[in-house]
Amino acid sequence: MYTKNQLVTVTIGDISDTGEGIGHADGFTLFVSRAIPGDTVRARILKAKKTYAIAKAEEIITPAAGRVVPECPVAGSCGGCQLSYMSYEAQLSLKQKKTEDCVRRIGGLADVPVLPILSMENPKAYRNKGQFPVGSSQNGPALGFYAGHSHRIVPTEQCMMLWPGHEKILAAVREYIAVSGAKLYDEESGKGILRHVLMRRGAATREVSVCLVVNGRSIPKPELLWERLRGIDGVVGLCLNVNTAKTNVILGRETIPLFGSVTITDSVGDVMFEISPTSFYQVNPVQMKVLYDTALSYAGLTGNEVVWDLYCGIGTISLFLAKHARRVIGVEIVPDAVADAKANAKRNNLQNAEFYCGAAEEVVPELIANDPSIKPDVVVVDPPRKGCEKSLLETILRMNPTRIVYVSCDPATLARDLRILSDGGYRAVRVQPVDQFPGSVHVETVAELQRR
Ligand code: SAH
Repeated sequence: MYTKNQLVTVTIGDISDTGEGIGHADGFTLFVSRAIPGDTVRARILKAKKTYAIAKAEEIITPAAGRVVPECPVAGSCGGCQLSYMSYEAQLSLKQKKTEDCVRRIGGLADVPVLPILSMENPKAYRNKGQFPVGSSQNGPALGFYAGHSHRIVPTEQCMMLWPGHEKILAAVREYIAVSGAKLYDEESGKGILRHVLMRRGAATREVSVCLVVNGRSIPKPELLWERLRGIDGVVGLCLNVNTAKTNVILGRETIPLFGSVTITDSVGDVMFEISPTSFYQVNPVQMKVLYDTALSYAGLTGNEVVWDLYCGIGTISLFLAKHARRVIGVEIVPDAVADAKANAKRNNLQNAEFYCGAAEEVVPELIANDPSIKPDVVVVDPPRKGCEKSLLETILRMNPTRIVYVSCDPATLARDLRILSDGGYRAVRVQPVDQFPGSVHVETVAELQRR
């Protein structure tokens, strides 16, 4: 067994789901931070177990072909961009390979074409949402990002992946903390008020909302914060989200308006959306359009179809498709998001879209049992990383749609589910990765399935 602090030379062959380089030496699997596939590194063992060890690259002996010096000052310590040591080309080929490996190995689908990943022309400053933890550090109040695998806050003044200008909001909050005496939340004791700073911007409208997640229902002297925020480009409102639970989950259920608007608006193509701070909304506005256009083309709509959009969030895909379909039915589990989806249908004057709240695996069988006339021609699913519940896939198979469009943020669960749908009588026609998250290990994919 290795011992702590031992130095080991290892060549990295793969990368984990959380961004550590994976290599093998002396019969052990090593998970090495700051190392990428193709590197040979000298790594320091941080934690040794029976079959594997956690290590950190201390010296790059032979760099991988795509290795670059990151531009970001907190690269390596911030847990956000795990691929900051890789050129964009190297990141893209990694994501391509990962998608193919999952489809072939987990899905066992040897012949399905995996199309070349759709990439960004300028893979920086793309994010429309920031989520910054607040807490105490040895050097006083800290506002920044979590380090990888921990809740230690790496103080950050600016993130290269967020829209330019967001740093003014962070500066305003920092000033507010200094002048208001607002206490920062402490995860250990559960004391203190400020937990997270959330900000979201509509790329098309440039509207920005700021939301503080608080351990309570109020903050001291909120006007001192609003004074500082209201002059910043695009800021339309400040609100609080109440989260008094001792949990890793960032958001609580209740949102309290303080100043201006709680929501922002944005548009995708010619559809306008209103977005609550607690609702899911794609973080990359440029690639969001690419993703939805791909989903639309795979849905093959002629205008006569009944389409179900499961895991619909605020109804983005539903409304994007509604103009090309007879009827769209969206299902989503977060009540705020369903309220947004309904309001968004109205706002766009789309009367053929309706939304239901609940877990898709529970709501869909109930809806179809009550009204068989709403049997879908096309089903779109866009589940979280864990993929679809098996029972939902079985319900979809029973409903027997002509096509299924599967939008996924995890190629491993996508591949697992494609296998089930494949065995259930559907042919996976093609799989299209779309790079929604440059800098990060995450891969977004759209797959088209047709009934055999
Ligand atoms: N299609 C939307 C949202 C995708 S994210 C868009 O592109 O914006 C996945 C969504 O699934 C989230 O809004 C989440 O709240 C929702 N969700 C998670 N589990 C669910 C379940 N069991 N049933 C229905 N929706 C669920």
